[in-house]
Amino acid sequence: MDVASLYRNAASGLPFSLEILPPNRGLGLDNIHDFFNSLDGWLPAFVSVTYHQAHKIDRINEHGQMEQIWNRKKPGTLGVCAMLKFQYGLDVIPHVICGGFSKFESEDFLVDLDYLGFNHVLALRGDPNKTEPHFIPHPHGNTYANELVEQIVDMNAGKYLEDVSEARATNFEIGVGGYPEVHAEAHDLDEEVANVKRKIDAGASFVITQMFFDNECFYRFEEACREEGIDAPLIPGIKVITSKQQLTVLPEIFGTSIPQHLIDEVNACETDEDVCQVGIDHAVQQARALLNHGVVGVHFFTMNNSLVFNQILRAFQG
Ligand code: FAD
Repeated sequence: MDVASLYRNAASGLPFSLEILPPNRGLGLDNIHDFFNSLDGWLPAFVSVTYHQAHKIDRINEHGQMEQIWNRKKPGTLGVCAMLKFQYGLDVIPHVICGGFSKFESEDFLVDLDYLGFNHVLALRGDPNKTEPHFIPHPHGNTYANELVEQIVDMNAGKYLEDVSEARATNFEIGVGGYPEVHAEAHDLDEEVANVKRKIDAGASFVITQMFFDNECFYRFEEACREEGIDAPLIPGIKVITSKQQLTVLPEIFGTSIPQHLIDEVNACETDEDVCQVGIDHAVQQARALLNHGVVGVHFFTMNNSLVFNQILRAFQG
């Protein structure tokens, strides 16, 4: 089933999907179990699970000397994906990133996903390493997401990095990222859309967008994509504002603008609960308008917060 069909056939009847993050290193899966158990049967059309590159960090070793080590804060993407698929029967879309992977390591990860029966992936370049000024690809890896898409398309055609006779063809539907407010390294919307087109031409067939808080940004992006002949589903990514700090952090990290009326409403709140309520109301309004506009489904960046997501579900059930 392609992602559009996953939304159409969602058991809950609601065309919603969610993004889940693996837990921090050393923490178990309790938070994720709590999340899905609290949904009370209202399961999403699919769940995507993020992948986190290892970052260089400084630490003092046993000799009292400073050393740099590689540390992955959130390991376990594959395990979380497998658990959600086999324990909860969910359709799961693992994120696959270029950063930190040689092409052979990407192939190995994709082989594991194939053997476990995953049929969709979200192919991304990955964020730059926190200690580096810009994204530095693995010396034997893919530099941009379109190259990773090409690698997956090759595997779908039974073409692996080494010549293998009678190789098994994988069967991945490939999604990619899109940025309604333009990716930080692109100059303008034209460049952004040209990049989405490059990834679609390479073989991707759906796009999940970065978060935005003003639907007009999405409509402009959608129009520009359609004008370039991109007819793949564009799935809006929606985040719920849950704290006042996010008013500054989200624009800084993601380059996302926040409408003044939303900033004012959040700033007028006296408690965190009030902020959450404003954020939820805004996200529900955004999702309703986008679905009325005709998007195939809406993807929520939940940050594993079941309280927030449950309130969104209740608003829609109502
Ligand atoms: P690309 O499509 O490769 O584009 C990156 C930049 O390079 C763009 O500015 C583009 O214009 C430019 N570019 C692309 N191709 C070329 C080319 N051939 N020549 C010249 N310039 C080019 N990050 C993670 O680390 N883990 C995750 O799980 C994760 N999940 C995400 C989920 C979604 C829905 C989205 C939207 C983003 C996610 N990210 C994640 C963040 C993403 O990895 C970063 O935003 C990253 O900086 C860009 O990834 P991309 O796949 O969009 O990159």
